[in-house]
Amino acid sequence: MTASGTPALLPMAPARDERPGISGLARDELAAWFEARGEPAYRARQVADATWRAPATSFGEIRTLPASLRDHLDASYRFDTVSDTELRLSDGGLTEKGLHRLSDGALVESVLMHYPARSGQRERNTLCISSQAGCAVGCPFCATGELGFTRDLETAEIVDQVRHAARRLAAAGRRLTNVVFMGMGEPLLNLDRVLEAVDALNDPKRFALGARHITVSTSGVVPGMARLTALGPQFTLAVSLHAARDALRDVLVPLNRRWPIADVVEAARAHALATGRRVSYEVTMISGVNDTPADADAMADLLRGDHAHVNLIPMNPVAHTPWTASPMDVIERFAATLGDAGIGTTIRRNRGQEIGAACGQLAAERAGEPPAAAVARRRERLIGESAAALRGERSRKPLPAGTAGRDGA
Ligand code: SAH
Ligand code: SF4
Repeated sequence: MTASGTPALLPMAPARDERPGISGLARDELAAWFEARGEPAYRARQVADATWRAPATSFGEIRTLPASLRDHLDASYRFDTVSDTELRLSDGGLTEKGLHRLSDGALVESVLMHYPARSGQRERNTLCISSQAGCAVGCPFCATGELGFTRDLETAEIVDQVRHAARRLAAAGRRLTNVVFMGMGEPLLNLDRVLEAVDALNDPKRFALGARHITVSTSGVVPGMARLTALGPQFTLAVSLHAARDALRDVLVPLNRRWPIADVVEAARAHALATGRRVSYEVTMISGVNDTPADADAMADLLRGDHAHVNLIPMNPVAHTPWTASPMDVIERFAATLGDAGIGTTIRRNRGQEIGAACGQLAAERAGEPPAAAVARRRERLIGESAAALRGERSRKPLPAGTAGRDGA
């Protein structure tokens, strides 16, 4: 209240636009909307083509539709759910990070990586997208985890990150070849919308991207993994493993206290068996924390004989941790131990850091630097927790809020 007794005006976040995004509609939903208005079926196709194929940015630009229908569509749906995008180039122009503002002001990131053609391999343009604003899982080495959870993204908010990147690429005569759900958020805790988004991306009449060119990464939401297995082969499943010992994984991936390593690996094996596709495991390499010879041996024992591939990614030092990336020679030794056990292993050198690791960085920057005392306390706590984990002591901390009872869980 002000001195005069009237309520003070506080800056408010914009209200969320309740109109659904057009790109989140399934084909039959769009067809039903036109049918209910007595419009011929080809109208739905015109709108779908403009949504997915043309460089249009609003319903107003779909000149093949009568003006009244364009207005009607605009009153019911949003052509684009991303209000504003800030782009930043890195990696000599090969990587483009996008910070997207949604209708309620929530910020999410995507990262577009260009891999030029080389010996027998065609050029690739891979987009890393977000499935949630923030993340409730709270992995301590991850900038998004540090931010905490804001909300689930709607289906259209997920696919509109892809439409934006595809438009930018098309303007440069390029095509998007791969989509990875390795941006902000845990896709399997927003599984219904992620599945709808994958459906839109994969549908030959919509984005038409082959399922094999879509990867969904999870920190190990076991019921969600089981649901994917039951649905059949759809896309590549990547599992963020990070440690083969529960005491350490409890610290690095707090969800491990709910679904421990044995359950996660069993769910991954079931997926590989049902789909015939190998599982990709991701391991963020943190110096002196999860990169010791004992850790390499434990991982070799855990995965020996599995239809699996391990990606070792040096930690990108973006979150406020006391930790740094493992040195390359340590990562190479870790890879050799896995290789000796017959486990396919790739070290993702420079560009690997851009995958996922970069996501959350810009949003964290925007959120502002946390107080120095809070950062110091966090570092202190992580030093204590990782040291206890290395001694084999399991954490008794409660699960992060927001990770229970959601989609797939
Ligand atoms: N929530 C999902 C997908 C998004 S995170 C998951 O955890 O799998 C995508 C990948 O980026 C994960 O493998 C995650 O562990 C990794 N990652 C997050 N922060 C990182 C960092 N600072 N350095 C390297 N990899 C990181
Ligand atoms: Fe969430 Fe994945 Fe980051 Fe963990 S690594 S906090 S699950 S986004």
